[in-house]
Amino acid sequence: FDEVLVEGSVLAHYVAERNHYEELLDELFRSSGEARNMIGSRCIWHINSTAFGGGVAEMLPHHICLLRELGFDVRWLIFKPKEEQFFQFTKALHNSLHDVKVAGVNDLLPHYLEASQRGAAELERIIRPDDFLVIHDPQPLVAAAKFLESHPHPAIWRCHIGYPKRTPTVDKIWEFFGEYLRQFQRIVLSDKEYAFDTDLPIDIIPPSISPFSSKNRNYEGPAGQALDHLVSFNSQEFEPTPSLQDILGSRYFLHVSRWDGLKGIDRIIAAYDRFVKTALAEAYDTRLVIAGPDPLDVADDPEGREYFEKCVLLCTQLSEEVQRRVYLVCISMKDHDANAEIVGRLQQNAHGVFALSREEGFGLTATEALFRGKPVVVSSAFGLKRQVVNGLNGVVLHEPDIEDKAAEMMHRLAVGYSDFEEMARTAREHCLRSSTQISQIPKWYHSMQSALS
Ligand code: UDP
Repeated sequence: FDEVLVEGSVLAHYVAERNHYEELLDELFRSSGEARNMIGSRCIWHINSTAFGGGVAEMLPHHICLLRELGFDVRWLIFKPKEEQFFQFTKALHNSLHDVKVAGVNDLLPHYLEASQRGAAELERIIRPDDFLVIHDPQPLVAAAKFLESHPHPAIWRCHIGYPKRTPTVDKIWEFFGEYLRQFQRIVLSDKEYAFDTDLPIDIIPPSISPFSSKNRNYEGPAGQALDHLVSFNSQEFEPTPSLQDILGSRYFLHVSRWDGLKGIDRIIAAYDRFVKTALAEAYDTRLVIAGPDPLDVADDPEGREYFEKCVLLCTQLSEEVQRRVYLVCISMKDHDANAEIVGRLQQNAHGVFALSREEGFGLTATEALFRGKPVVVSSAFGLKRQVVNGLNGVVLHEPDIEDKAAEMMHRLAVGYSDFEEMARTAREHCLRSSTQISQIPKWYHSMQSALS
């Protein structure tokens, strides 16, 4: 385990913009008093498996800052076993939970259990009596459960993954977790449709964003040149490699995600190919930027490198004309704030944001684009259609022929923006009310208080 040190003041920003957050702040202060009485001075430990990349790492820093400012003792631990097989196993669990069949899982299981056993022993040295545990996702679940078996503590399992259908593969995974969940008091899921058979009470808390993080703040002026060193591109055979500045200064559609087959990056590339082949001359100017973490920097996602290479291959199969307009951008995860700034600036300057995931538990990248009031086009993957109401705050594309439909939306965006103006306004207002972190903290209080009672 490594501890991540988090500091900063977030609450003051909300208070300074009270006109947007009045009701949410009132509710936050009211519920905080009650929660402080119940939770008292016990330490709340959030435990997940990565400090960079992905939705959980995105949410925790400001969530932790806020809770500290509200008077709680909160700390953050990363469970990161050295063996590759550990993360191969948890990635297989992730895929299986989305009903993707994975071979060879049983061979990896012993590595996961062994690392978890070691993790449990380490927790004995870190966690004090009375501490409260919030365990995120499957990676640290078994280590925490084994520790809790002999050292009972109040504990919540916060699972960010979900799948709205029951299938034999999905049920098998929930059954596997079930054995370990007995040591917990409650489960938190992102949506009620993700509920599975369990005796534990389930609370629903959708993911949320911080309007004041480096990712979501408003950037003025050009990006500093230092950021250029933190991005790398797929090889561009037809143009000199661009700089981040060049990209930010151009017109482009954007997709942001980890390099993962479920994110539907191939579908965006196919849609863009169709768009360019039939585009009017003035639409030619709009490029495609696909941005994700440098796969070499992301230890908890062993498939990232392979999938990135698959995307590069897909690009090399495009015609010259299309290929030189597509940029696969790898962002170094070594500097968290710089990564956030690069993604934030790419989102802020995008002409439209696409998320065509095959499966999506929630999709914070869509929330971020909605919050920025960008035109947002998404697939009907469950988490995305939960956030986007077709025609109201964005566009939802349904199967089949999603690439054709996305290509058509690219046309509409490229030649004129007006359909999206009202939607973008609604998107931002809705996000301010329901997707900011302070709107979810009272729900966390409820869950923690219930776990303690
Ligand atoms: N993200 C990032 N850098 C990247 C790619 C993604 O900071 O290169 C962030 C993205 O902005 C979002 C999170 O990682 O906040 C991804 O969350 P999402 O729910 O979309 O997907 P997950 O990775 O959790 O499946």
